Amino acid sequence: MQLGLQDRIEHVEQRIEEVCKQSRRKREEIQLVAVTKYVSVAKTAQVLDAGLLHLGENRWQNAEDKWNQLHERGVWHFIGHLQTNKVKDVIGKFEYIHSLDRLSLAKEIQKKASSMDIRVKVLVQVNISGEESKYGLPPEQVDSFFEQISAFSNLEVVGLMTMAPEVDHAEMTRPVFRGLRELRDDINNRGLTKNPLTHLSMGMSGDFEIAIEEGATFVRLGSILVGKEED
Ligand SMILES: *Cc1c(COP(=O)(O)O)cnc(C)c1O
Repeated sequence: MQLGLQDRIEHVEQRIEEVCKQSRRKREEIQLVAVTKYVSVAKTAQVLDAGLLHLGENRWQNAEDKWNQLHERGVWHFIGHLQTNKVKDVIGKFEYIHSLDRLSLAKEIQKKASSMDIRVKVLVQVNISGEESKYGLPPEQVDSFFEQISAFSNLEVVGLMTMAPEVDHAEMTRPVFRGLRELRDDINNRGLTKNPLTHLSMGMSGDFEIAIEEGATFVRLGSILVGKEED
């Protein structure tokens, strides 16, 4: 049986509310980011119609038509790996960039944001799992990274992001999510950033409940929530 968008949203909402109840978190602490990278402009418009206003895209090429037609209706999150030469395409369009993972990228975002006289909210992507294939700073480089970007006044660092490895059992992702939360708490305890880091962007379709239990504030849901175009 095929589920319509409304059914998917209700299903996901129920699961989020259940896990919030069990882990004594408030539903409003968690912001759903509907990942629309698999779907068309029309389907993305339906997502907005359904009241999901935070949209995630991982490549400008996939996002461009949707952003051009719908940008005034939503809050846009850039969640994918960002090449330095693509910063010019996304800057000023996406309210959040979740994938700041290297100094050269920070420099470029700072430069472009400064020239436009805007501030950009960024999350620092950390490779907690240590998988070779994953983007993100190694945790041991996070301290020096924050120091290096501390003077970049057009960057507003609001949190950390990570991707868990693909595993057979979602439970196996828990140490990764917990690791990101502990890293954030440690950074805040030591006052490494101007303002405390509030956000943890973690959890996707296969593991969002574990991520919420471990403190996620943004969950990035594509297939389970929005579906893919052929659905
Ligand atoms: C595609 C993508 C997601 C959503 O993945 P699903 O498993 O379909 O929910 C989340 N985060 C990032 C960075 C992605 O690229």
